[in-house]
Amino acid sequence: MNAPNDMSFLTQLYIDGGWLDGAEGRRIPVLNPATGAWLADVAAGTAHDVERAVAGAARAFRAWRHTTGAARARYLHAIAAEVEVRRERLAMLQSLNNGKPQSEAHMDVDDVIATFRYYAQLAERLHHSTGEEVSIPSTEQRARICREPCGVAALIVPWNFPMVTTAWKLAPALAAGCTVVLKPSEITPLPELELASAIASVGLPAGVFNAVTGTGADVGAPLVAHPDVAKVSFTGSTGVGQTVMKTAADTLKGVSLELGGKSSIIVFDDADLDLAVDLVEAGGFFNSGQMCSATSRVLVARELAPRLLARLVERADRIVVGDPFAPGVQMGPLVNRAQFERVLGHIEQGIADGARLVTGGGRPAGAPEQGFFIAPTIFADVPATSALWRDEIFGPVLCMRVFDTEQEAVDVANDSNYGLVATVVTTDEARGERVARALEAGVVWVNTPQVIYPQTSWGGYKRSSIGRELGPFGLAAFQETKQVLTLRHAD
Ligand code: NAD
Repeated sequence: MNAPNDMSFLTQLYIDGGWLDGAEGRRIPVLNPATGAWLADVAAGTAHDVERAVAGAARAFRAWRHTTGAARARYLHAIAAEVEVRRERLAMLQSLNNGKPQSEAHMDVDDVIATFRYYAQLAERLHHSTGEEVSIPSTEQRARICREPCGVAALIVPWNFPMVTTAWKLAPALAAGCTVVLKPSEITPLPELELASAIASVGLPAGVFNAVTGTGADVGAPLVAHPDVAKVSFTGSTGVGQTVMKTAADTLKGVSLELGGKSSIIVFDDADLDLAVDLVEAGGFFNSGQMCSATSRVLVARELAPRLLARLVERADRIVVGDPFAPGVQMGPLVNRAQFERVLGHIEQGIADGARLVTGGGRPAGAPEQGFFIAPTIFADVPATSALWRDEIFGPVLCMRVFDTEQEAVDVANDSNYGLVATVVTTDEARGERVARALEAGVVWVNTPQVIYPQTSWGGYKRSSIGRELGPFGLAAFQETKQVLTLRHAD
């Protein structure tokens, strides 16, 4: 394991090709969630820094937009290679600042590499200069569709998968020919600034990529309001996403929003029980349950419920919770005190609302005193009207309910303001397909873990998303579409 030995961190803003302290010299303390200890004071940007970063990005856009897809692909490949070189350091910073175990931190870095490589391949194939000819019912005219970069893009990301959510925006934005201002979460800037340094090292022209750390109010809000920002790509909570969309309306800029979730895993009576236990465990406790895609609602066929619950409790009680760098640790702390107290508040409310607490519910025995640890927690008989069942908890808390029919399972799963993902566990292939199609969710996993390939799509129905990331959709989010109709010259 890679316990931290180099405790010197990047703490400055990266603007227009240079590292600098914020214009007002303000700093934000960054803590280690496993110990509560101070790690660093990171520059807290302000509207003044946003102004400089957007000006640099707008200037750089004039030339960057005309680079070929092939040229941009070379930068993206170079970024992937540099991230690979820094894999251990990035994974170390991720565990240190976010608290996720080293195994999960490495998965995140590998996802970043795969995402940059994928968008490098898409960039290589862009018909940027001439566009694609489309067939029209005319012999005199010729129509082409050109896809052009939309301009300066603001990329605003959360703390739960800091580098991954960044890569899912940054790689397609650069591939499309946009210039960007990245705003990392103020809670997890350390891995993000190391990633920014990796990106800066590949020699992009000044201003193409900028990173401004700071709070949502001081950096995020002025970025969204800025008239020279053409596009906002935001991942975070649904409430802040709504604010972003309202603010963006003033300048009518495009928005892509990846927001909250409250997703279900449906376990049918014919399910492979071992597989179901694995999938429920990962869907609830991976990243300490701090996942937009957590399948924290467990819907199980009535006759299977006692056996599934017994197996889950046994599994949850065996999960090793503790120092993310310690060998064998499977679950780290929550990201900070606020999140820790919020999740404990949900647990208390759940008990008050009549849900049956089966295991967990507080600090795990033996976990470091000052860290923000919560034991894997399982509730059964959760009332469908309770906040526990309806609200995003964002912690290691599974809520179980039984169902009697396939239709009931689908209806209960769909009864949510959110619609990000769902998992279906059944050995009946036809049923798996039928239920996958009936669920109001942007991603459905049938008998598979939550693997996310950059080639596919990411995003949800209802209040979970506006737009889609990954795949060609992720690229299109940063492009304008232009039709050019010309006269066909006689041959
Ligand atoms: P958050 O909404 O508090 O913050 C997200 C980002 O927005 C941060 O960088 C924050 O500083 C910034 N911000 C805050 N106020 C702002 C404002 N007024 N204008 C502009 N930016 C502002 O979310 P969080 O607590 O960091 O992350 C957790 C949330 O993210 C959860 O709801 C989770 O479901 C969601 N999430 C969604 C996805 C997805 O793909 N759908 C992925 C990861 C996380």
